[in-house]
Amino acid sequence: MRKNIVAGNWKMHKNNSETVALLQDIIAKNGTPNCEVVVAPTFVNLKTAVDTVNGKNITVAAQNMHQAEGGAYTGEIAASMLTDIGVNTVILGHSERRAYFHETDALLANKVDTALKHEMRVIFCFGEELKDRQKENHFNVVEYQLRDGLFHLEKKDWKCIVLAYEPVWAIGTGETASPEQAQEMHQFIRELIAKVYGSDVADNVSILYGGSVKPDNAKEIFSKPDVDGGLIGGAALKADDFLAIVNAM
Ligand code: PEP
Repeated sequence: MRKNIVAGNWKMHKNNSETVALLQDIIAKNGTPNCEVVVAPTFVNLKTAVDTVNGKNITVAAQNMHQAEGGAYTGEIAASMLTDIGVNTVILGHSERRAYFHETDALLANKVDTALKHEMRVIFCFGEELKDRQKENHFNVVEYQLRDGLFHLEKKDWKCIVLAYEPVWAIGTGETASPEQAQEMHQFIRELIAKVYGSDVADNVSILYGGSVKPDNAKEIFSKPDVDGGLIGGAALKADDFLAIVNAM
């Protein structure tokens, strides 16, 4: 049975003391959610976050990592450095990484391999841009992102993969895909995975939706049968908003 997950991507927000304060607020107000709760603070605050959520049923994820094992890569972070501090989940392929840091599907395939080699779980982000949707090319774009980024994996690897469909036009824009648009794409993705890997893999992979999910639209989006949770940006920065979304699951 696949897992429901609500993950907060904090991006380049929150310094160390703000990270602790937000986590303590989330911990204090968190009930017994019907999903796994994941938070992804910045690299410098990951260890603090791991220590703060210790024993509280909250997973700490990294927002990125480098594909190499280590070496002369100034400013980068290796998988082993993450697992060493207790971070075993990593977000890869976020549209901001693809757009501003030129991360290609081929590079992401490498990063996924490195993460899996270190027994990490990957939240793999992908999604079409507005121009793709306007040309009605969004299914093709998503199919190629998945083929080039993930379809080299073996069937057994999929237990470590979580998918996050994030239409770029809905990220940080306040414009959300309608629940029907989200469901249509999530169903397409699940059927594609079933064709390539079989229905056992497809039925068990969690597919999150991301793109301007807020407390007032989360319930309707999460009610769709192929939406297994969300990847949340802006609304993850306030405990009350984030937990309202968690509780909508
Ligand atoms: C994101 O950055 O992954 C995201 C979904 O952001 P927002 O919720 O702010 O649109």
